[in-house]
Amino acid sequence: MTSERTDAAGENVQQLRNVLQKYWGFDSFRALQQESMTSIMEGRDTLVVLPTGGGKSLCYQAPAMCLDGMAIVVSPLISLMKDQVDTARACGLPARLINSSIDARERFETWGEVRDGKVRLLYVSPERLTQSSFLDQLADVPLSMLAIDEAHCISQWGHDFRPHYRELCVLRERFPEVPLHAFTATATADVQEDIAHQLGLKSPQFFVGSFDRPNLSYRVIRKGNLTEQIEAELKNHVGESGIIYCITRKEVDEWTAFLNSRGVPALPYHAGLTDEQRHQNQEAFLNDDAGIVVATVAFGMGIDKSNIRFVIHVGMPKSIEHYQQESGRAGRDGLDADCVLLFGNDDLLKWQFMTRDLPPEVSEVSAESLRKMVGFCEGMMCRHRALVRHFGQDLAEKCGTNCDVCTGNHTAVEEPLKIAQMILSSVYRQEQRFGVEYTIAVLKGSRSKKVLGNGHDKLSTYGLLKDHSKPLIQEWIGQLIQQECLHRVGEYNMLRLKEPGWLVLRGEWTPELVIPQRAELQVEAPTAKGKQTSWDGVEMPLFEKLRELRSTFASERGVPPYVIFSDATLRDLARKRPTTPDAILAVYGVGQKKRDDFGTEFLEVIDNYCREHQVESNVDNSNKPADPPDEQPRVNRSALTAFPLFAAGKSLAEVAQTIGRAHSTTCGYLAEYLREKDITDPTPWVDAPTAARIRQAIEHVGANGLKPIFEHLNGEVDYDSIRIVVQCWLNGKS
Ligand code: ADP
Ligand code: MG
Ligand code: ZN
Repeated sequence: MTSERTDAAGENVQQLRNVLQKYWGFDSFRALQQESMTSIMEGRDTLVVLPTGGGKSLCYQAPAMCLDGMAIVVSPLISLMKDQVDTARACGLPARLINSSIDARERFETWGEVRDGKVRLLYVSPERLTQSSFLDQLADVPLSMLAIDEAHCISQWGHDFRPHYRELCVLRERFPEVPLHAFTATATADVQEDIAHQLGLKSPQFFVGSFDRPNLSYRVIRKGNLTEQIEAELKNHVGESGIIYCITRKEVDEWTAFLNSRGVPALPYHAGLTDEQRHQNQEAFLNDDAGIVVATVAFGMGIDKSNIRFVIHVGMPKSIEHYQQESGRAGRDGLDADCVLLFGNDDLLKWQFMTRDLPPEVSEVSAESLRKMVGFCEGMMCRHRALVRHFGQDLAEKCGTNCDVCTGNHTAVEEPLKIAQMILSSVYRQEQRFGVEYTIAVLKGSRSKKVLGNGHDKLSTYGLLKDHSKPLIQEWIGQLIQQECLHRVGEYNMLRLKEPGWLVLRGEWTPELVIPQRAELQVEAPTAKGKQTSWDGVEMPLFEKLRELRSTFASERGVPPYVIFSDATLRDLARKRPTTPDAILAVYGVGQKKRDDFGTEFLEVIDNYCREHQVESNVDNSNKPADPPDEQPRVNRSALTAFPLFAAGKSLAEVAQTIGRAHSTTCGYLAEYLREKDITDPTPWVDAPTAARIRQAIEHVGANGLKPIFEHLNGEVDYDSIRIVVQCWLNGKS
C-alpha cells in the first residue's frame, strides 16, 4: 500500500468513527464493520456476511453518510421497511422509502427530496426497483451505492428464495459504474458465491464474520411435560418479549389459547390468518415492550426488534439454517437472551409428513437438512460450536458456560468403544434395515413380536444393553450419528453405517460417548449464569421510569419503543445516570440527534430520581466496555456470593452492603435466589401486610410486568418488594 492510500484509508476510518458517534452514539466498530465499511468507502463491490444482530445496516448506512450521492437500499419486506426507515430517521439519517405502501402524494414528495439531493438513503422494494419506469427516473440521480440487504433471497440454494430478488440482476447492467454491495446473515460458502454471481459483483471483497452469537444461551431439551417446560421457561422472562415457534398452525393456535388462559398475553402468527390479522399481530408485537408471539416459520423474516429476550422452539425446526435464523432473532441488542429448543421423536415425522408433497429434488435436500437437525439436537457437541461448524467455521474453544452441553452434568462413558461397537454391530447384523426404535428394542432384548418374528433374538447383540435405559441408548445412538458413525436414510429413517462407524467396528477409532444429564428427562433448572451481568449497577426503578418515558415518546411518534432507545441504552442510562447534555452522550446508543430530541426529558427524569432517592448521578463506569456484545459470557460471582447471605436470613440492605452492590442489583440477585430455591414465602424480605396487598394486586392485573402492579397500588409500594412477591407467587404457582 502506498502512503497516500494509507492516509486515505486512515481518513476514511476517522470520518466513519465521527459518523458512528454523531448519529448512533457508538464509540467502536463491531467485528468486520470497519473492514466492510472501508471497502465500501473505496467503492469496491463488497459482500458482507455477519450474523443477525452483527450490525450489517451500519455497514452501508455509515458510508452512505460519508459518500456523495444517494444510496439505494433493497430490502425484501414492505411491512418492515417503514420500521427500518423510522429507526434510521430517529438517529438523524435522511432516509426515505418507496414501495407500494405509500400513496402518490408521498411518492411525489419523496421524489422531490431525492431530486433536491436531500435523501442519502432510499429504501426500495425489489419489485419497485426493477420496474423500468423507476429505473429511468433514477437515471440522473447521483448514486453512492446499491446495497442489497438479505441478499440470500436471490439464491435458489438459500433457504428463503424470492423470485423478485432474482430480477435484481438487471442492476449491474443499468448501473455499471455504481458499486454494488450485498449483505446477509446466513449463507454457506456456496450461497455466498451464488449471490456474488447472480448480482454480477465485480471482483468483490468478501467479509465473512464469525457466525457465533456469544450472547445467546442455547438449551436443547427433550420434550417431557411440555406445559411445565414452557411455563418454567416463561417464568424466567416475565415482562419480556419473546417468540415461541411451533411446527404446525394448529399448535400455534393451541399454545396461544393455552397461554392466554394462563393470563399470559400472546398473539398467534401463521399463514392461515388473514394478511390483516398477521399484520396487526406483527405490529402489536413490534410496538410492545413485552409481547409474546406464537408462530410458525412464517414469522420473523426481517424483524429488527432488538430486545427479544427469548426464543422457544416447541418442536424441532426443519433445518439448522432455520434454527440459526429463528433463534438468532433473540438478543440483537447484544444483551443476554435464551434460546430453548424442545424436541421429540415425533418432530422428524411431522416434518416428513409436511414436506411429503415436495418434488423429489427439493425433498431430498430437506430430508438431509432434517437429519442434520436431528443430529444437532441429539448430539453432545457445544451448541455454539456445532452451529458454527455447520456453516463451515469453528470456534477456538467450546463456549464453556452458555449452552446445555457445556454446563450440563454429563458423565463420560467408561468404555465408549465397547458400547459403540455393540450398537454399531447390532445395526450391521440387522442388515441396516431398521430405525432407532427397533435397534433399541434388539439391544434391550425385547420380546416384541417384530423382533422375535425377524429372529433377531438370535443375534449376538440381542439384550447386550438391557441394563441401560431406553432414553440413554437413544442418546448414544444420537451421539454416534453426530460423530458420523451412523446416519439415517430413506423414508423410514433406517440406520446405516458410515465410514467412521467401520473404523469403530474394527477397533481403530474410539468415539466419545457420554451419559447426558437430560437422559433423565427432567425439566431443567434455569442456569443462573450471566443473567444479571448486564443488569449490574442498573437502578431498576429508574429503568422502569425510563421505559415509561420511552413508551410515551414512541406512541407520540407512532414508532416502536426500540426506535427511540434500545434496552441496552435504557440500562446504560439507569446505570450511568447522566444529568447533563454532555454526560448523556457518553451513554451507549445516544447520538446527537437523539440527545437533541429526547435528552431534556430523559435527563429530567434521571435528575429527579437521583435527588429523590439520594442515588449517585453521573456515575463513571468508563472502565466497563460500553458495547455489551464484547463482554465475555461469565458466571456472575456477586450473585453467587449473595446466595448464602440470603440463606442465612440477611436483609436486602445488609446483603447489598456486604457484597458492595446497588440495592436494585442485589434485589435482582434475590429474585434469582428465590427462583433457584423455589421459595414461595416472601415475608423474610417484605412485611406481611405489604405482601398481601401485592398479591391482591396480582389477582387484579396479573404478574406480567411489575409496572401494572406498581400502578395498581398507586405507586405506594416499591418495585423491589413487588419483584420479590411476584417471584414467590410464581414459584407457588408451579
Ligand atoms: P443486522 O442487520 O446485522 O442483523 P443491525 O444492523 O440491525 O444488525 O444491528 C443490530 C443492533 O446492533 C442494532 O441495535 C444496532 O444499533 C447495533 N449496532 C450496530 N453496530 C454497532 C456498533 N458498532 N456498536 C454498538 N452497537 C451497534
Ligand atoms: Mg439487518
Ligand atoms: Zn457450549
